[in-house]
Amino acid sequence: MKEITKISRVVWTDHVEKTMCEICKTRYPGENWDAQKYGDVRRTTISYERGTRWTFYQTKTISYDICPKCFEVVLMPFLATFGAEPTITEEDG
Ligand SMILES: [Zn+2]
Repeated sequence: MKEITKISRVVWTDHVEKTMCEICKTRYPGENWDAQKYGDVRRTTISYERGTRWTFYQTKTISYDICPKCFEVVLMPFLATFGAEPTITEEDG
């Protein structure tokens, strides 16, 4: 027979205090860029993943933290000079 006692356990997780835009060097609190109120979403994703996911898992991801303003004002016009067109996905619910 086991005698059980409840104990508290500390779990450490990563918490992003600030995110700095790689282009304009502005530091934003947290990881949701310039979100003003609860529920606002401001996410940018610029990454490249390469590797293998077959019988074993070995990948490498290269990414940049680019703020929404630089995404629209710097990155999109830059990519447009190459004729790149964005894929726009809308979610409504
Ligand atoms: Zn920026």
